[in-house]
Amino acid sequence: MNQQKNWAGNLIYQAKHWYEPRRVEEIQQLVKEASHVRVVGSRHSFNDIADSDDTILSLGNLNRVLAFDQEKQTVTIEGGMRYGELSSYLEERGFALPNLASLPHISVAGACATATHGSGDQNQCLSSSVRAMKVVTANGEIVEFSQGKNKEEWNGAAVHLGALGVMIELTLAVIPSYQVRQYVYEHLPFSQFAGHLDEIFSSAYSVSLFTDWSQEAMNQVWFKQLAGEQPPIRSELYGALPARANSHPILGVDSINCTEQMGVDGPWFDRLPHFRLNFMPSSGSELQSEYLIPRQYAMEALQVIRAMRSMISPILHVNEIRSVAKDDFWLSPSYQEDVIGLHFTWKDNWEAVQQVLPQIEAALAPFQARPHWGKVFTMPKERVQSFYEKLPSFRQLLAKYDSVGKFRNRFINHYIF
Ligand SMILES: Cc1cc2nc3c(=O)[nH]c(=O)nc-3n(C[C@H](O)[C@H](O)[C@H](O)COP(=O)(O)OP(=O)(O)OC[C@H]3O[C@@H](n4cnc5c(N)ncnc54)[C@H](O)[C@@H]3O)c2cc1C
Repeated sequence: MNQQKNWAGNLIYQAKHWYEPRRVEEIQQLVKEASHVRVVGSRHSFNDIADSDDTILSLGNLNRVLAFDQEKQTVTIEGGMRYGELSSYLEERGFALPNLASLPHISVAGACATATHGSGDQNQCLSSSVRAMKVVTANGEIVEFSQGKNKEEWNGAAVHLGALGVMIELTLAVIPSYQVRQYVYEHLPFSQFAGHLDEIFSSAYSVSLFTDWSQEAMNQVWFKQLAGEQPPIRSELYGALPARANSHPILGVDSINCTEQMGVDGPWFDRLPHFRLNFMPSSGSELQSEYLIPRQYAMEALQVIRAMRSMISPILHVNEIRSVAKDDFWLSPSYQEDVIGLHFTWKDNWEAVQQVLPQIEAALAPFQARPHWGKVFTMPKERVQSFYEKLPSFRQLLAKYDSVGKFRNRFINHYIF
């Protein structure tokens, strides 16, 4: 088998067998035969969450829309479909999703498995749009999980880290299509940000702030406003001024990779992600970490990171700060608490990053900072587990559908069991 790597290239998958099935029956047979099996989505995770020592299934061939119900406002897709493909399909029919991550390149199943999120005080993680899932479980049978059928079990299954089985179908709730306009403000003095965090995050449908700490300021504030519903552009934002041209969050990188800004109205899927589908998202040569912090500690946590900037800056492309609304999913880092996402896009230098991460995690410890499941972190498993009060119920859920641990890998054994 050729070496298979993740998107960032920092992980070589260890699986002995790699399959790209085209039919559900094939998946059922492969699951029955494998000793251990995992599924990869679009491979955008930075750690070994999707890896397996035996069999990996890649569902890239299963990327069709299976059903669209205009009356019920739902769409049912296969388990390998990406947001980019789904967004175009929905837009053609006048429908949309409420939010997206920073890029449309990721698979829906893989993103929802790790509670991937965009930004917005009122926007929950992407898993919250899913209403039902059909899953090939450990014995090769198909089980349907749905929010309507069993809400409690659903809250356990929605963010599943790939440990429940193979998601072959997902049904998502959709909403009428909408237009968004994007404005970028430059150089928000840190003192102003510290004094107005809540006002800034509540000023638009989705807000992201970026800084590389080269100045006493947030380099950029990205506002994604619903067209027509928000007040018109301000001439300044607590001292930050509107950008004069499209920007890239990483200074010096070409803004051609980014979605249109400067207040030009456009469809939701072409404004909510920062990066355009057919272009390189982010820097391309990078690692990522992210910590989700209960909203009330956000400013203190940011002050702590700011104090560490001389250590962080040399290996950092950029920090991004976003807000995520609470949900009820057992393994979601925003379980029953609104959070602020403190994200690090690192330069591709694991030697240096792995020295800094424990120090960041220690400094953020008083603020209950939970690591993003799909990014790099070094926090001890006991600490990770302490954030998830429903973990015993999640273990029981896995035991119910996978009593032999077929869908467990190193990551699941370490952090969950
Ligand atoms: C450039 C870049 C930008 C990013 N931006 C964001 C962002 O804005 N917000 C954010 O929260 N995260 C972001 N991420 C992280 C990313 O969204 C998550 O790591 C996400 O889980 C990746 O999804 P994927 O489809 O690549 O799945 P993979 O990384 O391949 O897999 C992730 C998990 O999903 C499971 N899985 C995938 N498909 C299936 C299936 N069909 N059935 C069962 N299990 C399955 C895997 O087993 C694994 O556990 C970004 C990553 C990159 C590289």
